[in-house]
Amino acid sequence: MDYNLYINGQSVATESHMDIFNPATGELLGKCPIATRLQLDDAVAAAAEAYKSWSQVSDEDRKNVCHAIGQVLEENAEELAQLLTQEQGKPLNGVGSRFEMGGCQGWTHFTADLELPVEVIQDNEEGHVELHRKPIGVVGSITPWNWPLMIAIWHVIPAIRTGNTVVIKPSPYTPLSTLRMIELISGILPKGVLNVVSGRDELGQWMSEHEDIQKIVFTGSCATGGKIMASAAPTLKRLVLELGGNDAGIVLPDVDASAIAEGLFWGAFINGGQTCAALKRLYVHEDVYDDVCTALTEYTRNIPMGNGLDENMIMGPVQNEMQYNKVKSLVEDAVAGGARVLLGANPEDGPGYFYPLTILADVSDGTRIVDEEQFGPALPIIKYSDVDDAIARANDSENGLGGSIWSTDIEKAKKLANRLECGSAWINKHGAIQPNVPFGGVKGSGIGVEFGVDGLKEYTTIQAVFS
Ligand code: NAD
Repeated sequence: MDYNLYINGQSVATESHMDIFNPATGELLGKCPIATRLQLDDAVAAAAEAYKSWSQVSDEDRKNVCHAIGQVLEENAEELAQLLTQEQGKPLNGVGSRFEMGGCQGWTHFTADLELPVEVIQDNEEGHVELHRKPIGVVGSITPWNWPLMIAIWHVIPAIRTGNTVVIKPSPYTPLSTLRMIELISGILPKGVLNVVSGRDELGQWMSEHEDIQKIVFTGSCATGGKIMASAAPTLKRLVLELGGNDAGIVLPDVDASAIAEGLFWGAFINGGQTCAALKRLYVHEDVYDDVCTALTEYTRNIPMGNGLDENMIMGPVQNEMQYNKVKSLVEDAVAGGARVLLGANPEDGPGYFYPLTILADVSDGTRIVDEEQFGPALPIIKYSDVDDAIARANDSENGLGGSIWSTDIEKAKKLANRLECGSAWINKHGAIQPNVPFGGVKGSGIGVEFGVDGLKEYTTIQAVFS
């Protein structure tokens, strides 16, 4: 299959391409078009032209179009899931590609039904004041490689629901599934409302600098988020930045280790750990430390990993060589520093970037795998004796995406969760998200939120009308 850009309602070929490989086999999957700066300009110009009419379309009509997109996603879910598995590596089953496609549909329909009605904030003899929410203009969306389709939907649907138009750029690691999905869904939108361009990282920089893009919504690493903020400053773009996390989980001494093992596993290893709000550092009280280490290791030992097209697989490979090498070096560094390997840490040679599910005990703060975001299938478990100290260590991070407390005493756990410096705090689970609950990071993990009414508002500006 040939993959092209999609600009102004048309499939657009490029002169240059880059090869995209299946991370499970190393085989060539397809060729990604590399857009030139002029082609980006064309996409932005098409979006700016389409904005003139799309921003005037009635709220009801935009809602219906979003529901129609949800229908297209449903009709093409299996084709997209198969492509996603071959490109990203995640299995069809488990919390994999079919799950991701289900999320795309669920988020689309839920967001379609959200409303931003006019708010009357004053109505008395001194005057009447209304707040109107207006679209912003052309939104540039820049996405990562871990949940490429779901994150694209998280950007695109609220943008067009509120009357903006979009130019989206997928990650150079996973562009093909997004190119195909956007081609499918833009067919039911007026031309120019939704455009997709692909290429290398520089394309994201050109978007961030572009004079005719009014807002960037970005999901990716903290380092890139900072670069985007700098590139966007001269044109004063609106920004939503969903950045990296180094989420801590704190296990209190009152838990039943075997009862929480499954939850800990999915918290840490969802998508092979390649999830922003995965559990990346696990602090366990000394009274239950050995029990938790054993229960989690025994649960994890039985999870099958392999080519995601095999219906029996629950885990796939790391998505790319850069990330594989990062996880490998962080584990090697921890082991060299005295970490005890409970599971994994012994990758076999390819094909494919399969890194085994790895659990490390007796790791301490100050070790790279605790202090840095590993973003892969390796979890360090740290022993603590004083819960106030554990909270302080959890908060001693530039990141602030998520955090969790594990306890049978829910009220006590909630009080502790409240002390975590993060945008989402969970009790006895980690990483759960919902389309009606705002999600975003504090501190270095981002600016702004996605999802729910608060997420929708990020795609609008306020106009106060006085009468
Ligand atoms: P990345 O920052 O390397 O790349 C993300 C996107 O930014 C890609 O499309 C890339 O081409 C583009 N890009 C790179 N340089 C750019 C530049 N200078 N200007 C503009 N765009 C540029 O991130 P990644 O490795 O693809 O994703 C993994 C990271 O994303 C992890 O840190 C993870 O925690 C984070 N993430 C966060 C969330 C969230 O909601 N907070 C969700 C998923 C992933």
